[in-house]
Amino acid sequence: MKVTPNQLRIESSILTHMQDVIWSYEWPKYSTVFLTPSAKDLFQQDYKHLLRHDKYWETCIVEEDVGLISTIYQQLERKGSFDVEYRIHCPESVIKWVRHRGIVIFDEQENPVRLDCLFCDISSSKLKALEMSNLAATDSLTGLKNRRFFTQELMRELDKCNRYAQETSLALLDLDHFKEVNDQYGHLAGDLILKEISKILQNLRKADLAARLGGEEFVILMPHTGLDKAAIMAERVRAEIEDKNFKLENGKVIHCTISIGLTSIFQDDTSIEDILRRADQALYMSKNSGRNRVCKFSM
Ligand code: GH3
Ligand code: MG
Ligand code: MG
Repeated sequence: MKVTPNQLRIESSILTHMQDVIWSYEWPKYSTVFLTPSAKDLFQQDYKHLLRHDKYWETCIVEEDVGLISTIYQQLERKGSFDVEYRIHCPESVIKWVRHRGIVIFDEQENPVRLDCLFCDISSSKLKALEMSNLAATDSLTGLKNRRFFTQELMRELDKCNRYAQETSLALLDLDHFKEVNDQYGHLAGDLILKEISKILQNLRKADLAARLGGEEFVILMPHTGLDKAAIMAERVRAEIEDKNFKLENGKVIHCTISIGLTSIFQDDTSIEDILRRADQALYMSKNSGRNRVCKFSM
C-alpha cells in the first residue's frame, strides 16, 4: 500500500509545523509509506538511509531510555496510540529530546491499515525546564544547592537508610562569630567569605552533597559514610577553612573558623527533623566547647 502525503489522514491534533517529522507505516508491517524530509534534520541522517531503516528511531534511543520501547508497544496494543518522550543519539555526540506520538489509522471497514507517527524535537523546552529546576534548587549567592533541594535529598537518603541499612552521615556547619566579621569588615566581605567557603564545599567527594541551609549555615550529606569516617572528612573541611586566607577587595586578608556538628542517620529514624535536631545538638556542643571544632552527636 502506498499513500501519498495528500492522502494521509493525520490526526489534526498531532500535526503542527513541518520541523516535526511524520513517519507513516503500513500496519502492522512497519514498512514506511511516508516520511517527511524534515526527518533528516531531526535524526541528522541521510533521508534515503532513513527510508531504508523503517524503525531507525528505535536504534538511536539512548541506553537509559531504551525501556520506553516496550512502553510504546504496550500502549499501542492497549489503546492503539502512544505518547512518549525519550532521548536520541545523533552524530557528533549530539543528544536530542524527542516527543514521539503514534496512532493507528483505520480504513472504512474498520481495519487497521497504518501507523502514523509524529516526532517533535523538544530539546529546548526540556533544557529550559532543567535550567528552571536547577535555578529553583540553587542558592543564588553561593551556587550551592539550597535548603529546599537538600531537604528532598535528605528524605530520599533517609528512605535508603531505612530500606537497605545504608550508613549515611550528616554534618551541620555554622561559621563562628560571623556577625562580628560583618560588623567589622562589612556585609560584602561577609558575602565574599560565604562564596569562598562554598567553593571549598563544592570540592568534596563526588557522592557528597553540600548545601547552604541559609545565612552562614551549611550542611554536608555523606552517603555510605559512617560517623568516624565523616568526622575525618569534617575535620578536613574545618582545617581547610581555618587555614584559608580570605582576601578582601581592599587586599586585606582575614581568617574565619567554622563549627561542625555530626550525626549519622539511624536505621529507625522516621523523620528528617530528628536527624537535623541531632546534628544541631552536636553543633551546639561544638559552639559551647570553644567553636572551631567538630563534635559528634552522642546520646
Ligand atoms: P556563632 O559563632 O554563635 O554562630 O556567632 P555568629 O555571629 O556567627 O551567629 P549569629 O547567628 O549571631 O549571626 C549570624 C550572622 O550571619 C548574622 C548575619 O549578619 C550573618 N549573615 C547571615 N546571612 C548572611 C549573608 O547572606 N551575607 C552576609 N554577609 N552575612 C550573613
Ligand atoms: Mg547561625
Ligand atoms: Mg554563626
